[in-house]
Amino acid sequence: MSGDPAIGEILVPADALTARVAELATEVSRDYAGRDLLLIGVLKGAMFFLSDLMRRLDVPAQVDFMAVASYGSATRSSGVVRILKDLDAPIEGRDVLIVEDIVDSGLTLQYLLRNLAGRNPASLEVCALLIKPERRKVDLRTRYVGFEIPDRFVIGYGLDHGERYRNLPYVAALRE
Ligand code: 5GP
Repeated sequence: MSGDPAIGEILVPADALTARVAELATEVSRDYAGRDLLLIGVLKGAMFFLSDLMRRLDVPAQVDFMAVASYGSATRSSGVVRILKDLDAPIEGRDVLIVEDIVDSGLTLQYLLRNLAGRNPASLEVCALLIKPERRKVDLRTRYVGFEIPDRFVIGYGLDHGERYRNLPYVAALRE
């Protein structure tokens, strides 16, 4: 796969991912000490981020998953979201932390936040590995952010293009 012409500039190298995930895990561990932390991983893009983050947490934590699909083109979401896989268990009274790969327009996350807030968690926060501030359409609170990136379509470390490139160990721009 290295040498694939679709893999463009590396925006976040592997060692930077490792270091930043460790910092986020320290922050989350401090903030959730003595609470009832439930990580909700948003499939599939957040899979590496979630597992790397969770294994570095120093507080008890449980995990559940959701899979959502956003209608729209391959690279632009519409904000109309379909739940492909819902949580296994209720979240009422839990301290929920949504673990997202990337917040682009914010429309997918806005939908998720509204949906999960309706299930009465004790608290609801977001940990996003990547955000694209230039593209944000809705005002959302992302409590933990890994990296701010420019308006480029990115692949790697869980993020795909047509289901490919998730296994790259770094985040790169897609060269189209
Ligand atoms: P939003 O609704 O915030 O515009 O888009 C969120 C979803 O679109 C993300 O969870 C992700 O699945 C997808 N997405 C947005 N930007 C990118 C990107 O640069 N690369 C990849 N692979 N997916 C993206």
